[in-house]
Amino acid sequence: MRWRHAVLLGHPVAHSISPRFQQAAFDHLGLDVRYEAWETREADLPQRLATLRGDSFIGANVTVPHKQRALVLVDVAQDAARVVGATNCLLKQGEELIAANTDVDGFRRSLREDAHFDARGRRAVVFGAGGAARAVVFALLQDSAAEVLVLNRSPERAASLVTELAPHGTGELWWQPQPSGDELEWLLRRFELVINCTSLGLAGSPQAGTAPVPEPALPRGALVVDIIANPLLTPLLRAARRRGCATLGGLSMLVYQGAAAFELWTGLPAPLGVMMDAARAAMGLR
Ligand code: NDP
Repeated sequence: MRWRHAVLLGHPVAHSISPRFQQAAFDHLGLDVRYEAWETREADLPQRLATLRGDSFIGANVTVPHKQRALVLVDVAQDAARVVGATNCLLKQGEELIAANTDVDGFRRSLREDAHFDARGRRAVVFGAGGAARAVVFALLQDSAAEVLVLNRSPERAASLVTELAPHGTGELWWQPQPSGDELEWLLRRFELVINCTSLGLAGSPQAGTAPVPEPALPRGALVVDIIANPLLTPLLRAARRRGCATLGGLSMLVYQGAAAFELWTGLPAPLGVMMDAARAAMGLR
């Protein structure tokens, strides 16, 4: 038997749960594919991508910190990856590498299917302006959100996100420097959807105990989403629950983006239940 491979490129990748739920999917369908996490330093990325061109590889996931750099090292970029400016999923066509972005559809699907929230005509505020924020904002624009406000620590990153993504939707996309205290509370009160796309609250990071929004500024009645998958209940989501808001965590987005990648690599429907169960088990849930 000749094994084929799919890999995860990132740094660090040791704690990623993608290998757990991707391998569960390949095994469930009886496919001879091994999914491996490859610890990849920035300097080694070109060599890793050269290796992927070999015919035993069916594709790859790309994670922090390579999502933007990988885009310029491939042969072709699909529309979503090009517009977002980042790729989390590489496909093969012969020896050619094609960049896709399944974070966009992963987020859309989790919002619709897990939070039952239709963004059409709604007002959203997004914290963060990195690669994930760009995917989320693009998804909201594609889903005809009426208004998207971007707040980020570095104003120049928020400004370029808005300039580059605004042509891709009809809703109002804008940014402003993030205010604090009463001013933030006042600004947020009319938003129906609040999304954390920063790394504030991420397990194992120096900001693990923090949230991008203080509890009193969370608009009552809003849906509060944290796309961070680990921990399952971030400081932001805890605060949102105390405030009586509906909440959505990042685990389902992670599995949906992985399921979309699986389908692009194999051409087969992803066994979503199997992947979700494996992801939940990897997070210590039954
Ligand atoms: P980036 O490094 O591209 O962006 C990080 C963002 O966090 C930037 O907006 C940055 O602001 C902000 N930030 C970082 N530290 C601080 C701080 N101390 N104070 C305020 N803001 C800060 O990362 P990504 O966009 O790729 O990922 C962001 C998060 O989303 C990660 O936690 C990741 O785990 C999660 N994610 C989840 C996915 C899922 O499927 N569930 C998919 C992709 C990402 P600045 O611009 O000022 O540096």
